Amino acid sequence: MQKGKIGVSSDNLFPIIKKFLYSDHDIFLREIVSNAVDATQKLKTLSGRGETSVSTENAKVRISLDEDKKTITISDNGIGMTAEEIEKYINQIAFSGANEFLEKYESDANAIIGHFGLGFYSSFMISDKVEIVTKSYKEGAQAVKWECDGSPEYSIEDTEREEVGTDIIMYVNEDSKEFLNKARLSEILNKYCKFLPIPVVFGKETEWKDGKEVETENENQINDPNPAWTKAPVDLKDEDYSAFYRKLYPMGEDPLFHIHLNVDYPFNLTGILYFPRLKNSIEVQKNKIQLYSNQVFVTDSVEGIVPEFLTLLHGVIDSPDIPLNVSRSYLQSDSNVKKISSHITKKVADRLHQLFKDNREDFEKKWDDLKIFIEYGMLTDEKFAERAMNFFLFKNTDGKYFTFEEYEKLIKDNQTNKDNNLVYLYTSNLEEQYSFVQTAKDKGYDVLILDNVLATPLLNKLEQQHSDKRFVRVDSDVVENLIQKEEEKEELSWEEKEELSPVFQAVCPADNGVNYIVDFKNLGEGGQPIVITRNEFMRRMKDMGQLQGGGGMNMYGNLPDSLNLVVNTAHPLVQKVLESKDKKLGKAFETIKEDLTAKKLEKDSLEKAKEGKKEEEVPAADKEKLDDLQKAIAELEQQKREKLSDFGKKNKFTKQMVDLALLANGMLKGEALDKFVRRSVELIK
Ligand code: ADP
Repeated sequence: MQKGKIGVSSDNLFPIIKKFLYSDHDIFLREIVSNAVDATQKLKTLSGRGETSVSTENAKVRISLDEDKKTITISDNGIGMTAEEIEKYINQIAFSGANEFLEKYESDANAIIGHFGLGFYSSFMISDKVEIVTKSYKEGAQAVKWECDGSPEYSIEDTEREEVGTDIIMYVNEDSKEFLNKARLSEILNKYCKFLPIPVVFGKETEWKDGKEVETENENQINDPNPAWTKAPVDLKDEDYSAFYRKLYPMGEDPLFHIHLNVDYPFNLTGILYFPRLKNSIEVQKNKIQLYSNQVFVTDSVEGIVPEFLTLLHGVIDSPDIPLNVSRSYLQSDSNVKKISSHITKKVADRLHQLFKDNREDFEKKWDDLKIFIEYGMLTDEKFAERAMNFFLFKNTDGKYFTFEEYEKLIKDNQTNKDNNLVYLYTSNLEEQYSFVQTAKDKGYDVLILDNVLATPLLNKLEQQHSDKRFVRVDSDVVENLIQKEEEKEELSWEEKEELSPVFQAVCPADNGVNYIVDFKNLGEGGQPIVITRNEFMRRMKDMGQLQGGGGMNMYGNLPDSLNLVVNTAHPLVQKVLESKDKKLGKAFETIKEDLTAKKLEKDSLEKAKEGKKEEEVPAADKEKLDDLQKAIAELEQQKREKLSDFGKKNKFTKQMVDLALLANGMLKGEALDKFVRRSVELIK
């Protein structure tokens, strides 16, 4: 037997391995099984070239668990190692700048393992002792056994092994007992080894017999060595892609379609991406994209490797060119990764464009499930946004689809406003905004449906890009104002509006945290008596606030809702109210108004006299007079408002008209609704 010291510049490698590699202990299995697979593939290559007569036909990697001896053994029929090769590949580990590196990546096990080529040594994360029993494929090679107990000392001696290949025997330490469990090992194998290119077996297949699960004679193969993404697209049918999807996500709903990625220059990348049905929300993705390197599972958190919006897709990406064993921050700045990322984006956009061109009808059918993905992409990725203009679709309230260009043509003539802006009308909820949609359509306008969470930011973006385009929600103003074609003339003077406003303000709901602003407008005799609208700007600010989530900075999100109550001055009912106002309020009201006018005049003249004078030059009597006048005016104003609001409350139409407007907006509920119904019954009795 020969003894030696492992060539590590650091005094003792193993405490470092154990100390720093605490988080991802389960990757030991990935590393050891990958080595076994590599060794097997190497032998296959040699055999393929006729350089060895050792058979590789039934080559397998076998995992076995001995709970009594507390060992996990990985065996392969690969090339094996000679004693010299063990010396070279296992004993001499190049350690340069070890300590600095360890400090930098102390919690990133992948990085450390990758940097040092520690693959094999990761076995010491979970073992007190590791043995290698191996026999090289080389003619007449002597089988050897290497042994190391976690100190840098190892021993190596000749041994017997019938077949060419290697066993790695790990004596699992006390802290890692969890791995001496069949279910746990199966779970790890399933995670990392499901698509390794050489059969990996663990235990026996089971079957149900007489109500019991019993082991059969057949070995239980963990992996599919030829997963769909490694095959040529011409060799695959749609069913094959669906079947593979189910293999990846047994619980997943069928995807919309797939993209088969196959690049070999300037980097190697294969994979299949699936478009899931996203409906109207960006749910936290359960079915994540899985990243592989030569069929070895690496991670399913691909953030930083593919653009954020693509993480909504499902499927696999396999690239030996992604530097997997480095930290995330390094990964994101890696130029290869950037290239790969933009390449995938381009492929996805190309594929969508192609689907659109090849079968527009089908594409339109899938649009509702796709749009959130495409919108998300447009919002977060400039390049994608550019490409998406080819296949992004608007859907209108008649269920027709238009590209951006097509839609522009459609509305150009009728929906250009006086400032030469193209106005896109939209609804965010066809049910709730039905009467607005209908009114706009009656006027010959087209209305789009933009009804998901990303609509508002998307509109903002489109408006930023096209300064001559405006998006206006149908309920943001009365139809006359949605698309202003000429300068509008005010129908009521400011004073008239001010006087009328309390009449209707008095009957607005006061208790639901909504702010009502009463306005007057001629909407024609045929228009509704009162229309409730929401200011587009304020509403969008609120939407954005909500999208960004709560928090102190989000001031728009917390603003009370502010609604416009537009009273149609041309409506006969409104006119009736206005006429009866003058009659009902009568002489007393006139007196208040006259009084008010007189007081205001007096105040004005006093103020005029004050002009240009210094404070001390104004006679004290005048100052007092002015003060008194101010108080009197305030009091009269108050009286006037009270009278008006009193009238508003007593009038049988005002409340009724406001309630009707609320009702049309789906905002009349509970007690208010009940009262409305009772009042209506009274009115028609
Ligand atoms: P890496 O795999 O990154 O080279 P490892 O520490 O995992 O680093 O392995 C070091 C070397 O040991 C391998 O390159 C290979 O030559 C040899 N080796 C490891 N496991 C086996 C095995 N099961 N059969 C044959 N050779 C092996």
